[in-house]
Amino acid sequence: MPSAYVVITDRILAVLDQGDIPWRKPWTTSRPTNVDGRPYQGINSIVLGMSGYTDPRWLTYRKAQSLGGHVRKGEKSTPIVFWKHIEKKDEDSFWLLRYYSVFNVEQTEGLELPALDQPNGKHEPISRAEQIISNMPNRPSIGHDGGNQAYYRPSTDSVHLPSQESFHGPEQYYSTLFHEASHSTGHESRLNRHGLETGIAAFGSATYSKEELVAEFGAAFLCHESGIANTIDNSKAYIQGWAKAIGRDKRLVITAASQGEKAANFIMGAN
Ligand SMILES: [Zn+2]
Repeated sequence: MPSAYVVITDRILAVLDQGDIPWRKPWTTSRPTNVDGRPYQGINSIVLGMSGYTDPRWLTYRKAQSLGGHVRKGEKSTPIVFWKHIEKKDEDSFWLLRYYSVFNVEQTEGLELPALDQPNGKHEPISRAEQIISNMPNRPSIGHDGGNQAYYRPSTDSVHLPSQESFHGPEQYYSTLFHEASHSTGHESRLNRHGLETGIAAFGSATYSKEELVAEFGAAFLCHESGIANTIDNSKAYIQGWAKAIGRDKRLVITAASQGEKAANFIMGAN
């Protein structure tokens, strides 16, 4: 059985190889959940979110059977990961990362499930994004003085962006703002994340790629939280830099997703 890290990173790398950043694809507005409505967290939310199904609900093969239906023949499963607590007699117990296979509800037949709530059109994603940023605890200074660049500068703890009007649309603006705000959570006064304190790491280095992934994941979570389809195209150079670093360390994607989630939670005042 391959390790859970390998299963998940291989899946993401396969999508990266096609030249796409999976979490930069438009998201469904519903977060992936199990059939009981419990949302998936971290990397599982990302992996299931990039699946392309409209129904946000997922379940195991057995769960489908227990609900009186079944997974259609030939349907491919999607891996998700969980920490499993292993108790050992006379030894220290420990946590092991395991993976499970789940299927989307659209891959099944015969299930008796309640109908999904339809979007009611009252959702105001952009005001939600604005709210998230204005309520960010210990917020860095944010200026629209970046010219044609967007960046976070650790030495001055400041985010610099192009003017709001120069973005293709508010989605792109907020997605960029969330990316830079996620970088800022690495500052020593916040989450003190290793890799940011050194300032600007060499482009393409493992440290740089890791921090970029953290910011990308952070932005993806916050866009998702705001109902924004995260659509900005990044350059091939970025993708290749990340893929190279990921190739050296299979745990990197999982770690970056977890740190990205922490960054997003920090920005939302949740930790
Ligand atoms: Zn960045």
